[in-house]
Amino acid sequence: MAVRKPGLIALFDLDDTLTAPRKAATPSMLEFIKELRKVVTIGVVSGSDLSKISGQLGKTVMNDYDYVFSENGLVAHKDGKLIGTQSLKSFLGDEKLKEFINFTLHYIADLDIPIKRGTFIELRSGMLNVSPIGRNCSQEERDEFEKYDKVHNIRSKMVSVLREKFAHLNLTFSIGGQISLDVFPQGWDKTYCLRYLDEFSEIHFFGDKTYKGGNDHEIYESERTVGHTVTSPDDTLKQCKALFLA
Ligand SMILES: [Mg+2]
Repeated sequence: MAVRKPGLIALFDLDDTLTAPRKAATPSMLEFIKELRKVVTIGVVSGSDLSKISGQLGKTVMNDYDYVFSENGLVAHKDGKLIGTQSLKSFLGDEKLKEFINFTLHYIADLDIPIKRGTFIELRSGMLNVSPIGRNCSQEERDEFEKYDKVHNIRSKMVSVLREKFAHLNLTFSIGGQISLDVFPQGWDKTYCLRYLDEFSEIHFFGDKTYKGGNDHEIYESERTVGHTVTSPDDTLKQCKALFLA
């Protein structure tokens, strides 16, 4: 086996970088990753949870990559072993979490919008997902809310109120999708995983959404990484071959 470059790691986003979105990796990508691992240390970082990642990269993903960072690294594995976990619940604590949820539910209760359904706040492991209409609305109701929100700015007004009220918690608010917004601590983007990579002096990151507002932007821009923008899994393959296997 060739000697792997010490201090260097190639770190990959998942969707549109190693695989088509939510799809399994192609046999040629799996083969390529094996070859690449002979010469460099490799890792994957994704916002998805571990079951989605192994669904796309295969059941042996833990053995095929040196590092697997699911949920942006809130769940971190090295050599197949769990090396760290973090959750919003343990980070904020129940008191602060309750304070935030109580205020937000009151705010939603006082909102006069055409319809409301159910599940206004969902606590996930690394974030709160907040929806003024409620997550269990139908697709038509979603579409209607999205249009209504474009005119009345329900979500962006809500974000400015929450941002001011909870400034002391250093939270990031992100409006995404049609009906909701995500709330998570500052720094809980893909850069979160970098805390596990102190031993590497050269971290090459490959991702597709490296533009401002994209979920690869922060890690791509980080001083700790050498960022590479890719346009597809094929492009990832091409760029890595030129960089590491030439
Ligand atoms: Mg991606």
